[in-house]
Amino acid sequence: MNARRLTILGATGSIGLSTLDVVRRHPEQFSVYALTASTRAPELAVLCREFRPQVAVMASFEAAQELRELLTDLPQVRVLSGPEGLEEVAAAPEADAVMAAIVGAAGLPPTLAAVRAGKRVLLANKEALVMSGQLFMDAVAESGAELLPIDSEHNAIFQCLPADRVRDPDAAGVSRILLTASGGPFREHSAAELRSVSPAEACAHPNWSMGQKISVDSATLMNKGLELIEACWLFNTTPDRVEVHVHPESIIHSMVEYVDGSVLAQLGSPDMRTPIANGLAWPERIDAGVAPLDLFAIGRFHFERPDLVRFPCLRLAAEAFEAGGTSPAVLNAANEEAVAAFLAGNLCFTDIPVIIERTLAAMDVVPADSFETIFARDAEARHRAREQIGLLTV
Ligand code: NAD
Ligand code: MG
Repeated sequence: MNARRLTILGATGSIGLSTLDVVRRHPEQFSVYALTASTRAPELAVLCREFRPQVAVMASFEAAQELRELLTDLPQVRVLSGPEGLEEVAAAPEADAVMAAIVGAAGLPPTLAAVRAGKRVLLANKEALVMSGQLFMDAVAESGAELLPIDSEHNAIFQCLPADRVRDPDAAGVSRILLTASGGPFREHSAAELRSVSPAEACAHPNWSMGQKISVDSATLMNKGLELIEACWLFNTTPDRVEVHVHPESIIHSMVEYVDGSVLAQLGSPDMRTPIANGLAWPERIDAGVAPLDLFAIGRFHFERPDLVRFPCLRLAAEAFEAGGTSPAVLNAANEEAVAAFLAGNLCFTDIPVIIERTLAAMDVVPADSFETIFARDAEARHRAREQIGLLTV
């Protein structure tokens, strides 16, 4: 395979750094065209020194200025800023593949730019797809972009499906998708205990090391709700054909059940470098630097049903998908605001679903007929969620 030139959106994050770790192991196969980050210029400067991208982008103008000063001895690295800079490197002809690893709605515009430019798009940024569902998939179909799921569950499902029928479950003979979930750090907490959990406790995931926002989503089970929606769009199916299985060991990353009774699973250590390497090299396989799985050491697998009473976010996500239109975008925006308030110490953990439910109730469902509509609803939902947070502040 020719060396693939990569743009990594969100290079300083958990997924971005894991991606660069895989790239570091395969200098002949991958080169870095562009790296991007939000505000922390010194962290991106370190990565620029090692990977020598042609372009580096900071989301903020001030941070880009800081990066330029840090890289005065590397004048060949062009430094850009803002949403335009992110979209430019996502769509640039010099990039063959784009890792979409910005967290949250901020990742949608550059991810969409990569899709529209027909790139191989490695999708970690699930929020982008949840917000814009049909429009996003239509853009993929129109441009011929190659969309590869990086979320571990979706990458597992992708690996368990026939490559030419990923979006045609009936033709493939798929009866159900069994979406696994770790259950998060509070799987065994009582409803009363959940009320007083701290951001630090929510971010201490038992099996995965991840960014703060997805760690909280994992603790509320909103992550599984977003993933349910993500699975429906990626694999062209419906929530009644996706069943969440809590599997606390996080070794089976998801399964596909076929009409003949076969169930195919993908297993591996809980290390995102495996799905990242799969997406980078697909359809080939490369070393991801992940230790081989030791099933003797693991010993047993467990499965249980999710508890939608203690963890209402999964139910809210399923309902938003069923409601359709802009509901998933509203759900996502309200969740981002509620999680940010929880992380800032301004909201109880158990009030996260309350904020989301109230925001959804306050807004009509309108058809998601354009990206402009989606962005407008996202902005309005954030405004309404913040009002609700103000009423509940701890
Ligand atoms: P993170 O917080 O560790 O990193 C986020 C990255 O996005 C950083 O590089 C940050 O600088 C950048 N960023 C943040 N806000 C930005 C903005 N407004 N504009 C531009 N850049 C911005 O997050 P993460 O855990 O790496 O997750 C990234 C995405 O991947 C999320 O959508 C998450 O749901 C998804 N994902 C993560 C994991 C995981 O194991 N971490 C697993 C599956 C899916
Ligand atoms: Mg996941």
